[in-house]
Amino acid sequence: MTFSADTAATSHPPTTHTLLSLFDAQRRASRDQPEVPLALRRDRLLRIQRLLEQHADALAAAVNADFGVRSPRLTEIADLFVLRALLSSTLRHLPRWMKSVKVRTPWYLQPSHAFLQRQPLGVVGVVSPWNYPVQLSLGPVITALAAGNRVMLKPSELTPQTSALLARLLGEAFAPDEVAVVQGGSDVAQAFVSLPFDHLFFTGSTAVGREVAKAAAANLTPTTLELGGKSPCIIDASCDIAQAALKIAHGKLLNAGQTCIAPDYLLLPRGREVEFADAFAQAVATLFPSLQGNPDYAAIISPRHLERLQAMLVRAEGQGARLQVIQPGGAAVSVSSRQMAPVLVFDVPARSELLSEELFGPILPVLPYDSLQQAIDHINAGPRPLALYWFGTDTGLRDHVLASTVSGGVTVNDTLMHIAHENLPFGGVGESGWGSYHGEAGFLRLSQQKPVMVQSKWARGDLFYPPYGKRFDQVMGWMKRFL
Ligand code: NAD
Repeated sequence: MTFSADTAATSHPPTTHTLLSLFDAQRRASRDQPEVPLALRRDRLLRIQRLLEQHADALAAAVNADFGVRSPRLTEIADLFVLRALLSSTLRHLPRWMKSVKVRTPWYLQPSHAFLQRQPLGVVGVVSPWNYPVQLSLGPVITALAAGNRVMLKPSELTPQTSALLARLLGEAFAPDEVAVVQGGSDVAQAFVSLPFDHLFFTGSTAVGREVAKAAAANLTPTTLELGGKSPCIIDASCDIAQAALKIAHGKLLNAGQTCIAPDYLLLPRGREVEFADAFAQAVATLFPSLQGNPDYAAIISPRHLERLQAMLVRAEGQGARLQVIQPGGAAVSVSSRQMAPVLVFDVPARSELLSEELFGPILPVLPYDSLQQAIDHINAGPRPLALYWFGTDTGLRDHVLASTVSGGVTVNDTLMHIAHENLPFGGVGESGWGSYHGEAGFLRLSQQKPVMVQSKWARGDLFYPPYGKRFDQVMGWMKRFL
């Protein structure tokens, strides 16, 4: 069955039959062309680069419309710039990444030689979330195309305008058997992740990631799961809290806390809570002199998400927590704009969901610790976090924390920034996900590194063939001495 770009870009949810036909077309095309030359990969990446250049404003406007309030400048830095940087470094390094890599051959196998051949996997499925809807859709698509794959993308139903625009633009730039966009809600998503992809790249919540892993396992489809979780931020006793507060407020309130690697909660030396609260309020006022109607302060994505955050606060307060709402400019924020004021939460009871659920909003529980070990134990008692932040000047204690905790990534003395470093693989560990991407790590994740050994005509493997006897024992005895 042939697909027109229109079919692939339609906003109507596809039927299972359409989905399967689309997948079959991509699969066939990938098998018909297992070798994807550099020129074609470059051409595909340049098509995305042009799409971004020509439609940057429209994409930022669509994201803004989907959120209600979401600064186009935020989309520029967090979605578009990140993609431009990814494209530029991918285009620069692709010729080297695609080359086979020679590996050293141990003396007992010489004079054979060996190499790793980097090949496309075939068809990669990408499922993306709503919070950075352009970056988290096109980032994996770019990576998959660079590795020579065909791609099917299922963007989030919570950003319908952005998803529809992506579908239209990608539909214009690519044949449906190269890149196709499938739109729809969780029912479509479930059918999508049940397709027997060669690799499934999912970005979203840990709960849905669990379902995705199960569906993929039925096909033995390998997955990359970029999930969420509770990323701790540790303030060390050696930290200048006034300086750290601005960086923590920025990391927490970028996109109103709807960032997978936002600091989820804060650990700080007991007794410094008031100092931090004052510095944090000051930092919020610096970044956002007012909230209501401020185009720089993103709205919560939907009324349902806002209600969830507010209900969590009400329940925490009912359980004895103390809330400090930060209201720069004085005016309360109206529910209609969904721009939720930042809230610090103190005296959080151990049973509060604020300590177990990923918050994904402008709420920052503040947990005092009496010893650094207590903070480390708290982190290690929970699932492995996606990110960890540490603020201070005592490098010995910093290294102790780095050695004592396991997380997807770390930024020291700032928040979020490790995600922007193109030579650092980005991903989670344990419940915050598996597999990483960005840079060469992403290219390799979506490639098959095929080990190839080329036997030499001088090889004497026959010395070890049966029937085993004296000759085998002599040669083996000699070889063992050289290991
Ligand atoms: P989500 O898990 O609800 O949805 C993500 C995608 O999965 C959407 O496209 C959705 O349609 C699809 N989906 C829904 N139900 C599905 C199912 N049963 N099977 C398969 N797919 C299904 O996540 P969200 O609310 O869009 O995004 C927020 C979450 O994503 C947070 O937990 C956040 O931490 C995480 N996140 C992680 C990263 C990262 O890089 N690690 C980046 C951004 C967001």
